[in-house]
Amino acid sequence: MLSCLSISDGTACDSHFLELSQLKHTQGISCALDLESDGKRFGSLDLSHSDNENAFATIPIPIVVIANGPGPTVLLTAGNHGNEYEGQVILRRLILETEPDDITGRLIILPALNYPAVIDDARVSPLDGGNLNRCFPGADDAGPTSAIAGFVTQALLPLCDAGIDFHSGGDSADYLACAFLCTCRDRTVFARSLELAEAFGAPYTFVVHGEEAPSGFDPTAQSLGVPFISNELSGGAGVDRLATRIGHKGLNNALVHLGLLPAERKQESGTTTFLDAMTGSSLVSSPITGICETAVDLGEYVQAGTVAARIYSLEEVDRPPVELKFEAEGIAVVRRLPARVVRGSHIYIVATEIGRDEVLNSVGVP
Ligand SMILES: [Zn+2]
Repeated sequence: MLSCLSISDGTACDSHFLELSQLKHTQGISCALDLESDGKRFGSLDLSHSDNENAFATIPIPIVVIANGPGPTVLLTAGNHGNEYEGQVILRRLILETEPDDITGRLIILPALNYPAVIDDARVSPLDGGNLNRCFPGADDAGPTSAIAGFVTQALLPLCDAGIDFHSGGDSADYLACAFLCTCRDRTVFARSLELAEAFGAPYTFVVHGEEAPSGFDPTAQSLGVPFISNELSGGAGVDRLATRIGHKGLNNALVHLGLLPAERKQESGTTTFLDAMTGSSLVSSPITGICETAVDLGEYVQAGTVAARIYSLEEVDRPPVELKFEAEGIAVVRRLPARVVRGSHIYIVATEIGRDEVLNSVGVP
């Protein structure tokens, strides 16, 4: 299906292009890159698109394969949200620094997965406003962003034994450097995802419900039997040095754990602390429009009643700020970055620690 081609009425060129495209495209994307043979190759997923500026165009989403003999296949992605940069840098470094002889198995790397959003320096796609991470498993008739999700789901994930999707907070939120672990019904897949998070070794692993998130990348991968984690390495518009070091080391150690890299490549790493975002987290949200002064640093342990933020009126300078307090104790994991807030803006997420066994036993069927 050519969901992302908007065919204008009666234009011969579009109709002709449609016929040609149907010969080789699935969901508006084709990929001529050889993903099977040993070696290191650079190519693209060619996303067909038609809009007011281009009757038809091909948007090249970069993909790299590095393969060396039998072994596991690992999918690595960044730029799912286009303005989150640590992962994009980490995967570009991996591409440049890794040769086939360095690994056993196969790496499939897409460092700018939602390429239109990456080019636009934006979280979501400028083509259709699509939030790629919420477009999985993809659909035939839901636009270009969904087409990218569909290609990953149908053509790439079935090749893979594991995957990691790199995120950061972007310019809207700051995160404690953490891995993201989604629960799933298959306990074997979940246990392998948990082990992957432990191998990644971020200071924290945020555990979230995945069963009720059918549109997510992680739940889609896990539903296909692929152990999968994502992460949130930092926040802001730049490339945070500490977050990049954490992500780079985490990726290296995850690849050692999966058998892609030899054991001697393992780097010293601490153990991760699991945080409960299933039942043990709470939000602080603004009740009004205004300027937000946050009162707590990320990583601080707060008590119920601790002042979280003060919201100042934009117009009434003689009005005292509205003081917001945490409703529950826990570690401040996420903090909003922009000072301007409106009613409903989330300012903090706090979460409590949860033990490894409790995580493993939290959901799933034996
Ligand atoms: Zn993201």
